[in-house]
Amino acid sequence: MLEVSHVKKNYGSLTAVNDLSFSIQPGEIFGLLGTNGAGKTTIFKMILGLLEPTAGQILFNGKKISYEDVDHIGYMIEERSLLVKLSVMELVLHYGALKGLDKETILERLNYWLKRFNMESYLDKKIKELSKGNQQKIQFITSIINNPKLLVLDEPFSGLDPINTQKFVEVIRDFQKQGTMIIFSTHQIDHVESFCEQLIVLEKGIPVLQGKISDIKKDFKRHNIRLIGD
Ligand code: ATP
Repeated sequence: MLEVSHVKKNYGSLTAVNDLSFSIQPGEIFGLLGTNGAGKTTIFKMILGLLEPTAGQILFNGKKISYEDVDHIGYMIEERSLLVKLSVMELVLHYGALKGLDKETILERLNYWLKRFNMESYLDKKIKELSKGNQQKIQFITSIINNPKLLVLDEPFSGLDPINTQKFVEVIRDFQKQGTMIIFSTHQIDHVESFCEQLIVLEKGIPVLQGKISDIKKDFKRHNIRLIGD
């Protein structure tokens, strides 16, 4: 279980995240909805242990995230820093090795995912030669190569066409069924409505709405969140 309790993050005098609390159970998909600058990336960096909260705490299965936990966490954070000179295989081997996986396991899983994303012929292609959408798929594959228990996805659908969005959704659902805790951010409500159990709407670091979508839906309009068909 992931537990975020009364977390706050200041950058100098700016409060990027203020008094945020939520928890995610195994097999649950949790969404963070917010416009640019709402604090989504800051939250993910704190969950991953890359930033210390100014106040509050984050516990992963009852403990502060430590170096060993990284093997069980998958992440795709928005500052996309793919090592562009590498081939698809080299890149995924690199990330897989960082998660403690052996070469054979990584290649077996990579081949499976490439097939699922119709990218079988891309194994030796250089990352820099791929389209943005294909780079995103490879980045997604790197985040799931360790079959994570916690999957952190910062704007996973941004820039994807509807077909690929659907593919990502199917894969995320497969992980959900296996008991993975999933947290993702988006600035588009249509990604979350049919997708996640719980949602936080963030405005300038402040959670203005929080709960099951069915419960908080009635307040969307008040926060200028428009559902399809509204
Ligand atoms: P985006 O989708 O644009 O990345 P976001 O919701 O992920 O937005 P954050 O990147 O977490 O938001 O930023 C939240 C606020 O904190 C913004 O006002 C941003 O300018 C500020 N901020 C982020 N990182 C830093 C930093 N290292 N130093 C100072 N301010 C920062």
